[in-house]
Amino acid sequence: MVMTDSPPPSDRLEPPKPANQKLVLTLFRPVLFAFAAVGVAIGLLVALHRGDPGVATVLLPQPAEVVNATPVPLAEPEPAPQITARDFQGFQPGGTDPSSMSLPVQQADAEPVSDRYELTLRLEKDDTIEKMLADIDVPEADRKQIDEKLQAILKKRKIAVGETITLQVQTVAEQPDAPRVLSLSVRPQPEREFLITRKDDGSYAGEEKVYKVTPRIVRVEGSRHGSLQQSGVAAGAPSPAMLEFIRALSYDVDFQRELKEGMKFTVLLEQLVTSDGKVTHPGRLLAGELFLTKRIATVIRYRPAGGAEGFWTPQGESVIRSFLRTPMDASRVTSGFGMRDHPILGYSAMHTGADFGAQMGTPILAAGNGKVVMAGFNGGYGLYVKLQHTADIGTGYGHMSRLGPGIKPGVSVRQGQVIGFVGATGMATGPHLHYEFYRAGHPVNPLAQKFAMRAAMSGKDLVAFKAMSQRYQGQLKNAPQISAITAADSKKPDAPPTPQVATGR
Ligand SMILES: [Zn+2]
Repeated sequence: MVMTDSPPPSDRLEPPKPANQKLVLTLFRPVLFAFAAVGVAIGLLVALHRGDPGVATVLLPQPAEVVNATPVPLAEPEPAPQITARDFQGFQPGGTDPSSMSLPVQQADAEPVSDRYELTLRLEKDDTIEKMLADIDVPEADRKQIDEKLQAILKKRKIAVGETITLQVQTVAEQPDAPRVLSLSVRPQPEREFLITRKDDGSYAGEEKVYKVTPRIVRVEGSRHGSLQQSGVAAGAPSPAMLEFIRALSYDVDFQRELKEGMKFTVLLEQLVTSDGKVTHPGRLLAGELFLTKRIATVIRYRPAGGAEGFWTPQGESVIRSFLRTPMDASRVTSGFGMRDHPILGYSAMHTGADFGAQMGTPILAAGNGKVVMAGFNGGYGLYVKLQHTADIGTGYGHMSRLGPGIKPGVSVRQGQVIGFVGATGMATGPHLHYEFYRAGHPVNPLAQKFAMRAAMSGKDLVAFKAMSQRYQGQLKNAPQISAITAADSKKPDAPPTPQVATGR
């Protein structure tokens, strides 16, 4: 039974501020320039390594991904999914993939500062490589050979319409109107490249390069401005990872009350990266922490032996609760469980549940999956619903104004389903929910039940989990940051990624 004494809380809803996109763009501009710079620098480096004195002094406007150093034999690669290079654009923080700078362009992406330049062409509908080469006046003998070698390594695989073809081209004195193709590259997936190169004797050779894909652990740090989801994406985290993070936190965190503007969060991600630095998976959430007004909420991904993968607290408890924290949104406790002076009866009595003050008509949710065992008027409880969840556990809901749709004894309900609406029926001084929690038939304090309701690990699982949790928590502090990695990659032209390349076939 009974009462709402405190006034409604002043629910301060802060309107979400739009992410400052202009700022993001401004921040990224230097990174883009840096990438362009590294492309040029690596082009020079490659020229030096090729040992061609005629080229060594020339700065080639090549993007970094053209660098393919010494092939290293690898085991037969696993078949990769059929996807085009465009699927991988926009993975970089802020959705700006520096490598895409030269991709969708129909013409040379820089002024030819030498007789060598790069062309990026797109395969159109009903187009062929040979036709494409003929359009740019490549001599017939060359384009026949290039096409033949390409077909040989493609082995019946088709290049998708819209696929990007990258050419390294040279203008030579003997044939000023007909460009010489030095190389042609098609890279339908980041880990797979089909490459045709011109040899010294003027003939062409083809090879299929398979780049090794390895996991890389990175972290993304951000602070909440508006929606947590958007703040994460703006900081460089992939959207699905942020959704997972928020879902894992949602059982425990009251986002409206505990999370204020500007509060920080960190997510730990496992990316997949090719040996030459292309990100093939933007990042799977491994762990995350969110700084709240009074605490830090941390979630850790883990798969216990024989169990399903999920998120856990650092103490080894599943984040998923069998029961909702409160059977209502935006509710406040107006009267706790235990002895109290009864506001209507006027004497001290046991209060067998917790009261949540809320507006008339607020939906009441089933705290867990279960069966309706009672739905109707029940003395001082007014309109009342009782759910049985397990043989041991039941919950009761009193003073409803009306029942939820379809709620009657014998029907099953799912966690979160609306079973009724807040009212003041029975012995109540104002609209509120009287919520009871039963264990083995006896009412217990609903507010004290939350921790007992989670799955927890024990034994070997807990030991292994604790070790992993420790590691992740360390990495949340000191793993390389996504933005830092981008910057470091573009600042080290003297240390280009060493591709481990296998020739297919
Ligand atoms: Zn009550």
